[in-house]
Amino acid sequence: MQNLKVVDHPLIQHKLTELRNVDTPTNHFRTLLREISLLLAYEITSSMPMKMKEITTPLEAMQSPTLSGKKLALISILRAGNGLLDGVLDLIPSARVGFIGLYRDETTLRPVQYYFKVPSELESRIVIAVDPMLATGHSAAEAIDLLKKAGAKNIRFLCLLAAPEGVEVLSERHPDVPIVTAALDRRLNDVGYILPGLGDAGDRMYGTK
Ligand code: URA
Repeated sequence: MQNLKVVDHPLIQHKLTELRNVDTPTNHFRTLLREISLLLAYEITSSMPMKMKEITTPLEAMQSPTLSGKKLALISILRAGNGLLDGVLDLIPSARVGFIGLYRDETTLRPVQYYFKVPSELESRIVIAVDPMLATGHSAAEAIDLLKKAGAKNIRFLCLLAAPEGVEVLSERHPDVPIVTAALDRRLNDVGYILPGLGDAGDRMYGTK
C-alpha cells in the first residue's frame, strides 16, 4: 500500500476516537470532523509547488517562499464529502470547490453519476477529492475517473477512514493518486460498512437515519 499515508498524529487519533464513539452527538461529531479534516489537509498539502517572492520586512528586503501555480481544487464526493470540505477550506480558504454526486445502482451495484460540477482548468490545478469513508473504493475510483475525464492530472484523495478493500481498488485503478487517511481499519462487513469504523458518516454528520 505504497500510495497510502496514515496520519497518526496524536491530536488526530484522539479526536478520531471520540468521533468513532457511538455516544458522540451530531453537533460534536461535526466539530470533530472539521478539526480532523483541517489537520489532514495540512498533511495532504505538504508537497506543493513554491516560488520565491521579493518582500520587505520592517528591517530589510528578502526573498521569501510563497505558493505558486493555480488555486487548488477541492472536490467533495456527496454527501459525506461535505463534512471534510469545511475543515480543508478553513486551512485553504482560497481553494476552488467542486461536487460530484454518485449513487449506487441496486441492480448492478455500480456507482452512477447524478451531479458533476467542478472548477475550470482542472488540468493545471492540484485536485484533492474528499470523502470521509473509503469503503469499497468503487465510488472513489469512479469519481477520479470523472475528474481525469474532465482534465485533472494531479489528483490526491483525502479520507478519514479507509478499509483495506477500498485502498486496493482505488490503488489498482488509480496508482498515481496518493491516499491520505487518519486510519486504516480492519475490513468491510457484509453490507459494505467499515469495521470498526464509525457507522454511516453522512447520518452521523447530519443526524439522519
Ligand atoms: N460509508 C459510510 O458512511 N460508512 C461506512 O462504514 C462505509 C461507507
